[in-house]
Amino acid sequence: MKSTLTRAPSCADDHDPAALTVDEARHTIQQHISPISGVEKRSLRSCLNRVLAEDIHSTIQVPAHTNSAMDGYAIAADDLPVDGIKKYRVIGTAFAGKAFAGSCKAGEVVRIMTGAVIPDGCDTVVMQEHIEIVDDTHIHIDQGHRSGQNVRQAGEDIDIGDIVLQKGRHIMPSDLGILASLGLAEIPVYRRPRVAFFSTGDELRSVGETLKKGEIYDSNRYTLYGMLKNLHVDILDMGVVRDNQQAMHNALQTAADMADIVITSGGVSVGEADYIKPTLDQLGSIHFSKVGMKPGRPLTFGSINSNQKQAHFFGLPGNPVSVMVTFYQFVQPAIHYLASGKTQQPITLKATCTSTLKKRSGRFEFQRGVYQQEANGDISVSKTGQQGSGVLTSMSIANCFILLPENATTVQPGDTVEIQPFNALN
Ligand code: AMP
Ligand code: MG
Repeated sequence: MKSTLTRAPSCADDHDPAALTVDEARHTIQQHISPISGVEKRSLRSCLNRVLAEDIHSTIQVPAHTNSAMDGYAIAADDLPVDGIKKYRVIGTAFAGKAFAGSCKAGEVVRIMTGAVIPDGCDTVVMQEHIEIVDDTHIHIDQGHRSGQNVRQAGEDIDIGDIVLQKGRHIMPSDLGILASLGLAEIPVYRRPRVAFFSTGDELRSVGETLKKGEIYDSNRYTLYGMLKNLHVDILDMGVVRDNQQAMHNALQTAADMADIVITSGGVSVGEADYIKPTLDQLGSIHFSKVGMKPGRPLTFGSINSNQKQAHFFGLPGNPVSVMVTFYQFVQPAIHYLASGKTQQPITLKATCTSTLKKRSGRFEFQRGVYQQEANGDISVSKTGQQGSGVLTSMSIANCFILLPENATTVQPGDTVEIQPFNALN
């Protein structure tokens, strides 16, 4: 007898026409997010890892004075010997931070130290290794020197009016130094994104509690905390919410009132205890709820209405590896765009695969790998073992994702694959 059962696509299937591709999902997310516009002034030190809200124009020259790049003797280029050797009188010394007060005429030079202001009448420095001392007050200089040599011009690094740092830049330690070199004590930066998150599931217990049969510890909230902490956002950890539509409704509404982005884990599949999607239908809208990827297919993206604003919603699948994969691939770029208005292109590298990677055509897979650089400079990658979406150790052993596009099938040892190093994800 022929079966009359029709089946909805499930996690076990490889191609699902209702699912967006990874690229389509990325695009949809970016279309819905507008960068934060709120600006605040912060003291210089607290701007580390913040996003600059205005172009920074320099009001001074760096270096502030034309100065010597060498220890040697300052001279006027016109007075350099054209052929043969010439004798000069040393009329004084210029130190860094203590300029020579007089001015230099023909037949005269000033002994000068690195960083000292070039004395009046001079425009060139001859290194001390290239002169010959005659006596306490006289030296010889040979021919062959270039006009203006060994002199750092005022403003050659930064000139007045130069844009030294651009709006949208993530402020790094070198930038703190540049801002300090301009004498700026307070910097305009964008407000940090606020991210609220909670776990869902009746089976979840918190660390420190005792597990009863069928219960597990809530690990997703800790991986999420770690990944968010690295992004320097304001974090609101809302704990665990039980599988109950009213509880879910209240938690999502509270989260949306407080945050720019709301992240949940679990409850986005099609099981009877998966309340996220019906609740979101009441509180806002769903932009997509399936991506053709493995792990992470039930990833849900939408928005929640709140007083005068909307919060972006990411419903991550419950499995611990799916949480991390979907966070790195979708949530992190979204937070980055929200914070700075810039899209982030994660670095990928080509590597020679040394393992067999099982795959069927149909979904984009993010397998976990360990890459290394071989003695000859080539990069190789091996798999971390079990690739199940619940095997969190596969993430901690790994140092990269192995990217296997939709139409790729099983990879054999020796094949070239694309990898995404974890250390390029932050
Ligand atoms: P769900 O999507 O809610 O059906 O969850 C899928 C799987 O992930 C189930 O085995 C859950 O027990 C597990 N899971 C869900 N949430 C968490 C969590 N916060 N920590 C660890 N495992 C979880
Ligand atoms: Mg659940």
